[in-house]
Amino acid sequence: MEKTVQLYEGKAKKVFATSDENLCIVDYKDDATAFNGEKKGTIVGKGVVNNRMTNHLMQLLEKNGIPTHFVKELSDRETLVKKVKIVPLEVIVRNITAGSLSKRLGVPEGVKLSRPVIEYSYKDDALGDPMVNEYHIFAMNFATPEELSEIAGYALKVNEVLSAYLLEHGIELVDFKLEFGKTSDGKIVLADEISPDTCRLWDSETHKKLDKDRFRRDLGGVEDAYLEVYRRLLG
Ligand code: ADP
Ligand code: UDP
Repeated sequence: MEKTVQLYEGKAKKVFATSDENLCIVDYKDDATAFNGEKKGTIVGKGVVNNRMTNHLMQLLEKNGIPTHFVKELSDRETLVKKVKIVPLEVIVRNITAGSLSKRLGVPEGVKLSRPVIEYSYKDDALGDPMVNEYHIFAMNFATPEELSEIAGYALKVNEVLSAYLLEHGIELVDFKLEFGKTSDGKIVLADEISPDTCRLWDSETHKKLDKDRFRRDLGGVEDAYLEVYRRLLG
């Protein structure tokens, strides 16, 4: 399958059409942004790590009953996926306090939550992805109650499968962001990516950060952290 026209260039990926209207190709870049695009940089090799890690995890999730957009890895940076209409929500799942939750509730990072937390943000860069709840989502028709209950169910199942799998590889899944989309036949599937850009991943022994927080917070060793996650999961 070949790329035809570019449909979209985002901050981390480009999306291309193909000769099949139900399929597209995503091409992962090394570009990194944080704080809603205010901070920009390059993480050398990130595109390869994120592409291959996403595909590896999506296949694991498929085996565990979660439908995904994954079709076929085409190269180090390119993957064929089902073209979906993205549900305009960032679905965030948290197991341990960090980032914006710590700030919002005044709790230090690293406190284990007694149960997973799901949060939703409306996907709109110009507005800075504002947090919304079920009432907003239904009133604004971002998703129907049936769709959201399916999405939340999948998100919690993703959390169970990934938390256990990552822990086997010495990684704690602190929190992460998912995106879902609707295929042409109306099925909800997991889309976008699952990578150190979209997850907080801590070494389970030392709690060292192995994710994009190293870039956001200028902690150094960004490339090494991405490669460390890659090495642990894909050898
Ligand atoms: P952003 O748009 O936040 O800058 P990216 O650079 O990752 O993010 O761009 C990838 C875009 O492709 C995102 O808008 C994402 O929602 C979208 N996308 C992900 N998977 C699919 C898919 N299977 N079909 C169509 N669009 C997708
Ligand atoms: N996240 C993401 N994209 C976003 C916002 C958040 O992938 O636009 C991920 C982030 O990497 C983290 C989780 O979602 O794993 C929770 O992020 P948080 O709300 O703490 O926001 P942040 O601290 O990144 O601003």
